[in-house]
Amino acid sequence: MSDYAKLASAARDAVAAASSVCREVQQALEQVRQITKDDKSPVTVADFASQAIVAILLQQSLGDIILVGEEDSKFLREPEHAAHLEAVIQAVRQIVPDISEHDVLAAIDTGAGDTHHPSFWTLDPIDGTKGFLRGQQYAIALAYIEQGTPVVAAMACPNLPRDFSAPLDTPDSQGSLYYTIKGDSVYELPCTDITATPEKVLRLDHEAGQPISICASVEKAHSNVSNTDRILTHLADRGIPAGEPTRLDSQAKYAVVARGQADAYLRLPTKKGYVERIWDHAAGSLIATEAGAFVTDMHGHALDFSHGRGLEKNLGIICAPPRIHGLLIGSINELDITGPA
Ligand code: AMP
Ligand code: MG
Repeated sequence: MSDYAKLASAARDAVAAASSVCREVQQALEQVRQITKDDKSPVTVADFASQAIVAILLQQSLGDIILVGEEDSKFLREPEHAAHLEAVIQAVRQIVPDISEHDVLAAIDTGAGDTHHPSFWTLDPIDGTKGFLRGQQYAIALAYIEQGTPVVAAMACPNLPRDFSAPLDTPDSQGSLYYTIKGDSVYELPCTDITATPEKVLRLDHEAGQPISICASVEKAHSNVSNTDRILTHLADRGIPAGEPTRLDSQAKYAVVARGQADAYLRLPTKKGYVERIWDHAAGSLIATEAGAFVTDMHGHALDFSHGRGLEKNLGIICAPPRIHGLLIGSINELDITGPA
């Protein structure tokens, strides 16, 4: 097995284990809320447990790692959050049965890794927290970045059906897991059975003359709706109509484009000064790219993961197969959309 294949298989196993625990916490939503007396606690508990599980399993497979994760243990160390901590420990013990409180907290803090290393892992333990709480889409997204470029990615979307005819806004009984290595194909598995034979994701390009289908965030604060409408109207005026965007939370949007269920993922800035986080895009962008899509910022520039925890040099995201990507960037330029406005 090549070194990258080893990393990919460790990443795939880690996000699958985290996904199984997140699914259980989501199913026990009301119980968790009662124990912690906090409405948002199920996502908090799943988030910390997911980061701990991914850190522990990567270390078990690969030894010492550098991990840049979204979470740290400060919240759980506060005495008033003892019930949350206990729920996190119980959740992690589903995967690592005898782990101590100390080791759970230490595993979460593995995520404080430094982005100045030439290579490191980045993790969003639960991307799409609002989707998780609504019982809709969320993702556990893990990527290995080398010299500013993601080279290995694994992403579990526990509520994403593999069947395109199933609704995207209700939980699926199996979910979809994607993993890839730069320069290789993208593989798909059910989240609930990673021993199944992986299927290659075959991305069909968009057929000229057909309407284009777009996906975007559910949260209107995360992507500019009026600029998206302007771009779609501009394309429709040139004979390329688009339907109403499909809305779903998290990096599952990259997977939906990768597998050809949507023609584009648009994320246009809403707020001056907002910098996209690396863990919100590293895994998803590699998966879409290796399936044949172009992923850039709204100005057509490659995403640059070499500037710490934020995509400091990029603004917005456009992900689509090459022809549609060109049309979208062309419209943005013609309309002179340069930022949030
Ligand atoms: P989504 O589910 O695609 O709407 O994206 C969820 C992610 O949006 C979260 O993980 C946040 O890091 C990120 N986010 C938070 N505020 C903003 C914002 N103003 N613009 C874009 N993304 C944001
Ligand atoms: Mg996120």
